[in-house]
Amino acid sequence: MATQLKDALAATGTIDEIKLIQSSYRKLLRAIKVETDADDKAQIRLAYEVAVRAHRKQRRKSGEPYILHPIEVATICACEIGLGPTAIVAALLHDVVEDTDVTLEEIRNQFGPKVMAIVDGLTKLDGNLAKNSPQAENFRKVVLTLLDDVRVVLIKMADRMHNMRTLGSMPRHKQLKIAGETAYIYAPLAHRLGLYAFKTEFQDLCLKIQDNGAYKDIAKKLHETKRERNRYISDFIRPVKKLVDGLGVDYRIFGRPKSIYSIHQKIENKEVAFEDIFDLFAVRVVIDVPIKDEKQTCWQIYSLITDIYQPIPERLKDWVTTPKSNGYESLHTTVIGPKGRYVEIQIRSERMDDIAERGFAAHWKYKGVGGGANRYEPWLDSIREILDGGSGDASEFLADFKTNLFSEEVFVYTPQGDLVNLPKGATALDFAFSVHSMVGYHCQSLKVNQRLVPMGYELTNGDRVEVITNKNQRPSEGWLKFVVTGKARAKIRSSLKEERRRKGEFGREELERKLSHRKVDFEPAVDAIVKHFKFTSPVDLYYALATDQMSTNDIFREFEIENGKLIPNPVHEPSVKSLPSNSKPKRVRKKTIDKPQLLVNGESATQYDFAFATCCNPVQGDDIFGYLSGTNSLKIHRTSCKNAEHLLSNYGYRVLRAEWGIPSDRNFVANLLIKGIDSGLGVIDSLTTVLSKNQSLNIRSMHIDGTGGYFECRISVVVTNIDQLEIAMRALSQLPEVASVLRED
Ligand code: MN
Repeated sequence: MATQLKDALAATGTIDEIKLIQSSYRKLLRAIKVETDADDKAQIRLAYEVAVRAHRKQRRKSGEPYILHPIEVATICACEIGLGPTAIVAALLHDVVEDTDVTLEEIRNQFGPKVMAIVDGLTKLDGNLAKNSPQAENFRKVVLTLLDDVRVVLIKMADRMHNMRTLGSMPRHKQLKIAGETAYIYAPLAHRLGLYAFKTEFQDLCLKIQDNGAYKDIAKKLHETKRERNRYISDFIRPVKKLVDGLGVDYRIFGRPKSIYSIHQKIENKEVAFEDIFDLFAVRVVIDVPIKDEKQTCWQIYSLITDIYQPIPERLKDWVTTPKSNGYESLHTTVIGPKGRYVEIQIRSERMDDIAERGFAAHWKYKGVGGGANRYEPWLDSIREILDGGSGDASEFLADFKTNLFSEEVFVYTPQGDLVNLPKGATALDFAFSVHSMVGYHCQSLKVNQRLVPMGYELTNGDRVEVITNKNQRPSEGWLKFVVTGKARAKIRSSLKEERRRKGEFGREELERKLSHRKVDFEPAVDAIVKHFKFTSPVDLYYALATDQMSTNDIFREFEIENGKLIPNPVHEPSVKSLPSNSKPKRVRKKTIDKPQLLVNGESATQYDFAFATCCNPVQGDDIFGYLSGTNSLKIHRTSCKNAEHLLSNYGYRVLRAEWGIPSDRNFVANLLIKGIDSGLGVIDSLTTVLSKNQSLNIRSMHIDGTGGYFECRISVVVTNIDQLEIAMRALSQLPEVASVLRED
């Protein structure tokens, strides 16, 4: 075997590359955190050999030997997720079945059924994700795999992490596609699995690709303000240390900058500038005490800190007493630090910190403590329920799921005093469905804290909820508006579907009778009718007949009968439209202005009827992509468009790579938002002078608002390319009265 490995390595690349592979492998071995016995070690070694041999002729886009990728993925599994030997073996082998001639059978023979099952899960996941299926469908598949063996998803996370970290060598449109998918599926899933470090890094890496300008800007400013921040943190910590030292426990205290993504979100949402965000960092206290003393010590430290700094009561979050359902435990608060700045404080034990960083896998290590791995069971159960709910529509599934993925939680009580944990925003009706689906179905009225409330009443922490049922009650369409949890939505939908089917029976019977009367075979005829009238299923057809939305005469008018079959009548267009008609002809707007040169997927875009998206108004030279909005019509968006992430991740298969071709003189309109101080010296005059005189640009429109010495000005300016625009923006921002110049969508 040893010589075989040597031969395989020799076939992989240059001497330097072989050295790199060997040192990466040694790094992997050192990264393993769990105990391994001789058998485990032999299996890992064997997996390494099999992978080296299988991938020996392949290279990554960056040009490196391919084998470095599985070794890195295994290292991430070992080091950053803390997974054990089985997962490490599977991670080393994760791409061999898909990309090389190694078969699953061989993997079973050499590594046993468990490793085979995980590799199989990963291969299928990859196969599905790579194809042109919409993200929602992909997401459903990822989640299904999660239920089989969590390790499949954890290894997939590591795989995705390594790919994101090394995305630089991919072409731009692929980067956007992968980043979109990561932001949409993997970051929220990492959050829900308690892999906070992964979530944060995914979000930062996505932002870096999706809005590189904003990313670089924040990174640069963080760097510039680092020294000042560090000084502030040490001033903040000094008096705290003095008091905590007196407790006589081992602890660490340190400041952590918030992630670039979260700072970006804050700037976007609150519309404040970087300089105005004071809480750019959190201070974390991690204590090393026996489990039985954790809670008490956390609160002791809370009490010491709030003796020095004034806390903000609304920001207190106690996940030590009641952990989040993904297992997160920590005591958070915000205090007012020196210079009146808000500082977030996180207090937790080493064990809690480990769980917060590594999530699921760390839970196994502490199994039996504080609920241990069982904590995930209720969550996995709720996923099973959503899946069983039979909503065949993957986008609905995703919407349901995301509500439950992202949300924080709310804790309420049954009349017996049992604690029920629901996603934040959950309503009284959600509570009814969480008790039992039958309690939900027959929910007649609801009481919160002994007072009657509407079904859509939003629950708050500590509410005591009582459900009054009536067995004649049944869900109606309107109920969907009163619930947010996936379970309740799925149950209501399946009940509505059942109701529809039940009512449709009358329609079905009538149709069956009429068809047999005309001696037409039932099933092929139904297929033909469904297709002709564009129903989504026979059930919808029966329902339409049963509720008189169409009659059997409407049907027979459209067909001729030949040999017991319905043949569509070629003369007539269908005269009755089915209800959920999504086949409306698309109106195509023709652009008459001379078009700039554009390349789509490397070829001239003249074959498309393309137009510039009005949501983001691209200007020649902007980073752009094409989105197919009809068979032939293409919308050009900026990659920083706020709709981009949604489009890229949901309709990735409609996205085409677009570039600017030979520069043209066509005019583009760009909208600018300028803010600043109104010194009373004629702001309008200075702005227009810069634009029209100095830069010779045409101003299409201008609107200025001013109050209290402060002004906001919106200008639409005509430019031919991004360079012109950027020069103008720079010139504007150099005016003494101007504070900021932003491009608006
Ligand atoms: Mn891979």
